[in-house]
Amino acid sequence: MTRGAIPALEPNTNLKELLTQKTLRQLEHLEPAQLKSLIDQAKYMRQRSDDKVTPLDVWVERILRKEERLRAKVTETRSGTVGSVLSREALVHTDEGVIDAALGTYAVVVGDHVTVGIVEGGWQIIETLPRRTKVSRPDVQDARIERLIAANVDSVVIVVSVVSPPLHPRLIDRYLIAIQHGGAQPVLCVNKMDLLEDAEELECLEVHRANGVPVFLCSVTEGLGIEELRTQVMGQTIVFVGHSGVGKSSLINAFAPSLGLKTGATSEGYGRGTHTTTVSSRHELPDGTIVIDTPGVRSFGLWAASGVELDAAFPEIASIHCRFRDCQHRTEPGCGVLEALERGEVSEERYAAYLKLKAEIGA
Ligand code: GDP
Ligand code: ZN
Repeated sequence: MTRGAIPALEPNTNLKELLTQKTLRQLEHLEPAQLKSLIDQAKYMRQRSDDKVTPLDVWVERILRKEERLRAKVTETRSGTVGSVLSREALVHTDEGVIDAALGTYAVVVGDHVTVGIVEGGWQIIETLPRRTKVSRPDVQDARIERLIAANVDSVVIVVSVVSPPLHPRLIDRYLIAIQHGGAQPVLCVNKMDLLEDAEELECLEVHRANGVPVFLCSVTEGLGIEELRTQVMGQTIVFVGHSGVGKSSLINAFAPSLGLKTGATSEGYGRGTHTTTVSSRHELPDGTIVIDTPGVRSFGLWAASGVELDAAFPEIASIHCRFRDCQHRTEPGCGVLEALERGEVSEERYAAYLKLKAEIGA
């Protein structure tokens, strides 16, 4: 399987259904996020050994025993952030430099906060800290499986363009939902403003501005909007996402010349199991901003989100009060959304997009 794209628990998975009462009692002292991370790890190891019969409890116990043995042997520790993940080791950025640490049983992604320790002469990951946010994408083969691609990202910069290719409102909605799912702040960059002829193309941005999404009008060729974006995300950990051709690589290069990305390239690919990063995918800029860039991040798309994230992407619709709590906003009497639509307070376009996405994710 591709490293740097590990499976995670589906949202709302009830931990109590995965483990027996006895195991849960033993783990009572753990924070919910630590427990979840332990279970993720057990699931990952079970999947990696192609084991479909052994209960998860047994895997959890194996991990705990192994961790205990490991900790007893540790002579020196450091904390740091995963800069990139190779097949058996991770490059961990610490205050004292980059450490090449063996993964052992840990499934980590770029951006993960970890503790590494020297065990029998070599660095190993000995602990992973709970993730504050995550960026995921659907699995290439099975879209129902979520693949984590980065952790602890503050802002996800969605790069879109006008004219070539034109602004695609539905695509923006999809990105917003996927970002909302992982808990990072979305930021919209509309590139190729130098090509804009008809200002009407920008109308679909109004609703996002009104919903509090920062929007930057950019042109890499004319150096427009880049400094404003820099101010917005200064000091944060960020990733850039966007379809190929919108000028994402050009924008990243203008924003962070030290990354030295190739532009106009068509070979983005998913790196299905063959991709290994030899250089770090986590780059610290002089102003402290950290840019994470990996092929996995670049192919980021909509992951089967829930109604909660849908509502967060359409707050002007979700906040409307209807007579029935479970109103589908289609034909129900006393539907506040239909009334707002009638009055022109909700746009036809946004309403249609909302219903379409709602049906797609089964919310
Ligand atoms: P990516 O596939 O999204 O990474 O896009 P690239 O950065 O490779 O750019 C795709 C094409 O768009 C290239 O030919 C760029 O020169 C062009 N491009 C990038 N930014 C701009 C811009 O602001 N204005 C115009 N007119 N073209 C741009
Ligand atoms: Zn309704």
